[in-house]
Amino acid sequence: MSTHSIAVIAGDGIGKEVVPAAITCLERIAGIHGLNLAFTYFDWGSDYYGRNGRMMPADGLDQLARHDAIFLGAVGSPEVPDTESLWGLLIPIRREFQQYINLRPVRTLDGVTSPLASDKPIDILIVRENNEGEYSEVGGRMYRGLPHETAVQETIFTRLGVSRAAHFAASLAASRQGRLTSATKSNGIIHTMPFWDEVIEETARQYPGVTVTHELVDALAAHLVLKPWTLDVIVASNLLGDILSDLGSAVTGSIGVAPSANLNPEGDFPSLFEPVHGSAPDIAGKGLANPVGQIWSGAMMLEHLGHPDAAAHLQSAFESALRDGHSTRDVGGTSSTSEFTAAVLTAIDAHA
Ligand code: ATP
Ligand code: MG
Repeated sequence: MSTHSIAVIAGDGIGKEVVPAAITCLERIAGIHGLNLAFTYFDWGSDYYGRNGRMMPADGLDQLARHDAIFLGAVGSPEVPDTESLWGLLIPIRREFQQYINLRPVRTLDGVTSPLASDKPIDILIVRENNEGEYSEVGGRMYRGLPHETAVQETIFTRLGVSRAAHFAASLAASRQGRLTSATKSNGIIHTMPFWDEVIEETARQYPGVTVTHELVDALAAHLVLKPWTLDVIVASNLLGDILSDLGSAVTGSIGVAPSANLNPEGDFPSLFEPVHGSAPDIAGKGLANPVGQIWSGAMMLEHLGHPDAAAHLQSAFESALRDGHSTRDVGGTSSTSEFTAAVLTAIDAHA
């Protein structure tokens, strides 16, 4: 029996609802496919911050390092500054564990209506560089309170950082339609962005059958809304990738269905799987949350752990539940979180 130890951080708000829902599904799948998933729960996040003044304990990263994967709901609450949840938990995890790829599938699903007029299927993989770029600590504030007060924030791209993201994206493109679109802004950002373009170009050239298009991010944002079905794999820097992938989840119907994987592709460190959405305090505790983004993230985790059949089984189960008309309110249905989850469990058994 294949055993994996998984660290679970349900976190805040609807994280506490969608994580248990997804774990029920993962346990059912594990039983059918002979996997032993050992879940260890960590109560980190905003409540923990309220009690301890930090999002996770000082040795939090050491505790997580002992696991094969991390399954996260959402962290953040109106009482805690956003920078705390980001810099006190998510960014340290991404950096310490070299999760330099943030992979976000953007796909239309039967049963989830896209706000776009067209019903052409959308199937895009967005590869966001996750360790460097615009999210840097280099910079500062000068002349506080004075009329010439100034803030400086440096963007850092390294050859290693950009090329490993490019390799990942180009090899994905090679396994699909071979079309790699790189988000750029090298007309305005004249040092870092041309370097990004160059390294992407050089790297992608090593992949026969892959063509690269450099698209200005403003035009690419419009492209994502007007003709998303013509896109295959997108590679983008930390900030641009974040914006494009939220836009991507919106054009396919709901932020509630979008999954993500923060990957250390080499497997030297645990990777982290979480839905794109946040803690959604506006609907938390009401049983309204859509668990699809979390369940789909669970399928990505199974795939990463080397169980493509179990991943495909889970994937087909939630897709068939949606196709059969089960869905939560954010995508136009009437199911509660637990009713939808029950429909997924039924579909898992039906496809076993
Ligand atoms: P955070 O600060 O943690 O990012 P947020 O307030 O930005 O939280 P998001 O979770 O990003 O909230 O959600 C934005 C909007 O989408 C909210 O109105 C929320 O209710 C809705 N939403 C997000 N996730 C889901 C979900 N899984 N199911 C239903 N609605 C959702
Ligand atoms: Mg948010």
